[in-house]
Amino acid sequence: MILKHWQAGIFGANNYLIINEMRKEALLIDCSEYTDQLEKELNNYNAELKYILLTHGHFDHVMGINETKRKYPNAKVFAHFGDKNLVLSINEFMKKYGMFTETLEIPIIDEYVQEGSISGNQIKIIHTPGHTRGSVCYLIDDNLFSGDTIFLEAVGRTDLDGGNFEDIKTNIENKIFTLDENIKIFPGHGDFTSVKHEKENNRFI
Ligand SMILES: [Zn+2]
Repeated sequence: MILKHWQAGIFGANNYLIINEMRKEALLIDCSEYTDQLEKELNNYNAELKYILLTHGHFDHVMGINETKRKYPNAKVFAHFGDKNLVLSINEFMKKYGMFTETLEIPIIDEYVQEGSISGNQIKIIHTPGHTRGSVCYLIDDNLFSGDTIFLEAVGRTDLDGGNFEDIKTNIENKIFTLDENIKIFPGHGDFTSVKHEKENNRFI
């Protein structure tokens, strides 16, 4: 498994590209903005973009989806069902929080999922609401892609629509801190961390 990473979009969210060299397949976690780096990496490894997995429906993680889909129409986009309304009302959300005035295209999600797994058992979806109703973490081998649920020594904000501090705390305790301590955490913003480091150092839990 090859992991590539870049920051994109207006808040510099982390986008992660995971490439399976044997199968020549790739998946992208969050899609803030279409970047040439995606094309470059896919070409480098001669890999097909198979999935785009969203950690949640906030605009700064999803704004690149439609452009990416126009380039890679076979890539299937997944998000959790709990954020369906958030995705569909992206323009209202942005207006409410004073972010943009131009109207955005609604991101096209191919499938809204619940907790479980996809791609055989290779990608585990862990539902961790609290930052948004449909926030999820994706566990792939020993790597947890946590979106805005948990950051290096911090947690995602819970004061926006659908946020709930008690939920985020409970979900981190019950669904992340119970994982193997060696699992690395790749958050939606900022630096990487690990389950062990967060159990010892997270200021909010
Ligand atoms: Zn967010």
